Amino acid sequence: MTTPTTVVSPPARDESALPVVGFIGLGHMGSGMTANLQAAGFPLVVNDLRRESAALLVEAGAVWADTPRQVAESSDIVITMLPTPRHVAQVAAGSDGLLAGMADGATWIDMSTSVPDVINQIRVANTDRGLRFIDAPVSGMSVGARNGTLQIFVGCEPDDFAALRPVFEAMGDPERILHVGGPGAGYAVKLLINQLWFSHLVATAEVLSVGVAAGVDLTTLRGALMASPANSNFVANDVLSIIDHGDYDEGFAIALACKDLGLSVDLARSSGVSVEVSAVVEQVFRRARARFGDSAGEMIPVRLYEEMLGRDLRREVA
Ligand code: NAD
Repeated sequence: MTTPTTVVSPPARDESALPVVGFIGLGHMGSGMTANLQAAGFPLVVNDLRRESAALLVEAGAVWADTPRQVAESSDIVITMLPTPRHVAQVAAGSDGLLAGMADGATWIDMSTSVPDVINQIRVANTDRGLRFIDAPVSGMSVGARNGTLQIFVGCEPDDFAALRPVFEAMGDPERILHVGGPGAGYAVKLLINQLWFSHLVATAEVLSVGVAAGVDLTTLRGALMASPANSNFVANDVLSIIDHGDYDEGFAIALACKDLGLSVDLARSSGVSVEVSAVVEQVFRRARARFGDSAGEMIPVRLYEEMLGRDLRREVA
């Protein structure tokens, strides 16, 4: 493994070649996504706070850049994959920030799970520069990032979606790369999917706990739910991780789940919609995070109900 070196010059540009992609945020998700972009032939310019996270990419031909500004100056398209909206705002701002390095008319795709507010403020402050801001958050966990099978929710103009499709296809499942609307729609759809799934999780934990406490056999109760109009993907599939294996999914930390739920409630607030159920679900997740710690799995709120019940929700596996 080599130590990344400071960028001296951007990759050579050839009009017939694939565009140079700048990528900032080489964590659980970004590391797999960049590896797949590289495998598809896109020349890469990369940056992260943790310089060592770029070592394998640089060894395979990527160029390290010291600042977001240098990434933008050396790329045709910039992608960010950062933890929170605060980090997205940080890389954009200042004399070393992305915006300082982007040429007029350049394209920035933010694939972080975020809210439209940050990019909207940046767009308003830069209306005269013709910059293209595209939101394209993902589902599929780090394993999907590694395998190039992410689901991608893209918010942008239709022409931009068509032009950028090859970039998305290098990272995602072509059948599940969805153009969900104009700018901001990608962020919203991603947050709403998470919100509904987390709501299913809490509702299912409640129902199973009450049923078991009332003396109904867990397998019988789940079977009845599945045969009823109350069935859900969570009851039919995802809950098996817990009731068969005691696995609360540490691949996605409850700290990030709480971040997503907070953003989802923020989105509702800024949209002027009351979301009592979402707010309660967020509080249950925050209680579970306080009880079990930041790195506990995203399904750990079920454990709160198990503690109340005084027994685990498990079925006999034949
Ligand atoms: P991560 O914390 O593993 O990686 C984030 C990376 O960003 C880190 O390497 C960090 O050093 C870097 N970073 C932070 N601030 C920076 C800055 N100012 N400049 C340069 N680099 C900076 O996070 P992740 O799990 O890869 O998640 C990234 C985004 O994807 C989040 O918004 C998350 O909600 C979303 N997401 C994650 C998953 C998952 O399973 N992990 C699934 C879907 C979506």
